[in-house]
Formats: sequence, structure tokens, C-alpha cells
Amino acid sequence: MTIEVKDVTVRFGGVTALKDASLTLERGKILAVVGPNGSGKSTLFNAITGMAKPAAGTVVVDAKRIDDLPAYKRIAWGVARTFQTPRFDPKVTVEEAVMCGFFRLRRTSIMASLLRTPSAAAEEKRFRDRCNEILDDLKLSGFRSQQMSELPMGRVRLVEVARAVANEPKYILLDEPAAGLAVDEQRMLSHEMRRLAERGVGVLLVEHNFNLIRELAEHVVVLKEGSMLLEGTPETIAKNQAFIDTYLGS
Ligand code: ADP
Ligand code: MG
Repeated sequence: MTIEVKDVTVRFGGVTALKDASLTLERGKILAVVGPNGSGKSTLFNAITGMAKPAAGTVVVDAKRIDDLPAYKRIAWGVARTFQTPRFDPKVTVEEAVMCGFFRLRRTSIMASLLRTPSAAAEEKRFRDRCNEILDDLKLSGFRSQQMSELPMGRVRLVEVARAVANEPKYILLDEPAAGLAVDEQRMLSHEMRRLAERGVGVLLVEHNFNLIRELAEHVVVLKEGSMLLEGTPETIAKNQAFIDTYLGS
């Protein structure tokens, strides 16, 4: 069970944001994507989730080609994501935002839900209980009634992670989720990513902090100016001169 990205190219007008990118994300594994700003990391996420239309290449999820499906249909294939810059309505509360994540799992009709039938009430309770668990896991319980506008950006990203987890995805794509988090929040996020992988979720992680990558990821893909510079284990990447030059400037 994998996401297979093969030779994907994305262009915006004259700019080639991503060129011939390929990767394989297995369920239960954590794969990291690194690269300087503008190297195509977010575009890669957009190509997988359908927010960018590749000019070439294929995206296959669990043996089903999905690159011709619109974004909203890809969610049904169990691919959840977070955004580098989340856009929530500022008045939405943390709890409401996470409850939105259960949408994909809903089995009762709108009518049943309005009439509060026993099965609709049971489903609602199940989602609320699970929401509480997720908020606890990500240490967000204390902020459940706060509005998004009241939270620092780091915590807003954490709410996005919580919402994506609520979706019970098979694959989760996290775009710089640790940016702006305090050390203890980062630790808790690492813990959550590991827990997801242990439950069989494939985690694709864009991250700049190489210590965090070393701790979590078995495999790393390095992008530079839209192209794949190299890939390998965190250990081999960290020793690679091209990688060092890309990050530190040669
Ligand atoms: P990263 O996430 O690695 O910082 P991005 O994927 O956001 O990089 O961007 C890669 C390149 O594509 C950049 O040159 C960026 O300016 C360009 N780009 C990204 N999204 C768009 C867009 N919607 N329209 C035009 N250019 C874009
Ligand atoms: Mg980005």
C-alpha cells in the first residue's frame, strides 16, 4: 500500500515549480522532503492532493491512478494534508475545526442528523469522544474553545494536524508542521507522527529541522529548484556534499 509519485512536473506559466519528481510513500513509514524555500516542496503536496495539476507524470494511491481526479475526490482515497499557511475562519474554535475533520467518516444523513435519530446521536458522540482524544494527544484540550484568531501560527498548524488526524487518513502530508512550535510542542508532534506511523499511516513530512528528520524519517528526498537533488537515509544525506552546499551555500 503506497503513494507512488512518478516523474511529476508542475508549471506555473513560465516557472517550472517541480520537475520529474518521483517518490514512494509506504503506509506505516515516515518520509521527509527537504529543500530550500521555493524548491517545490509545497507544490509536490499540491500535485499529490490535486491542488496543482501536473503537466506530466502520475500519482498512484494504493494502485489507483488519482492524478486525473479533482482534489475533493482524492480525500476519499484517504489522503489528508495540512497547509504551510492554514486559512481558517478566524472565529472558528479549535474544537469546531477538529470536528470538521470527521466529515469523511460520516455515515448518517443530514436529515437523520437534524432529527437527532439514535444512530445520528451515537455517531456524533463517537466523533466527539475521538475529538477529545485527539485534542488530548496534541495538548490542545486547554484551547478547545479558543478562536483560531487567538492562537499563534504554530498552534494553528497543530490544529490542522489534529483535523487531518480526525479524518483517519491512510496517508498524511504535513507541510512544515513543526515551524514556530516550542521545543516541548515539537516533541509532542514527533510523538504523534510516530504514533500515526505505528498505526499504519504513511507520513510525508516537509521539515527544515534536520534533527527532527533524523529522529523520525527513514528516508529523505532533497529538492532543489524543483528537481530532485538526491535521496537516501538521513545519515547519508547529512554527509552528502551537494546537500551541505545547498543548505549552507557553496
Ligand atoms: P517550497 O514549498 O519548497 O518553498 P513551492 O512549492 O511553494 O516551494 O514553490 C516552488 C516554486 O513555484 C516557487 O518558485 C514558487 O514561486 C512557485 N509557485 C508555487 N506556487 C505557485 C503558484 N500558485 N503560482 C505561481 N507560482 C507558484
Ligand atoms: Mg512550502
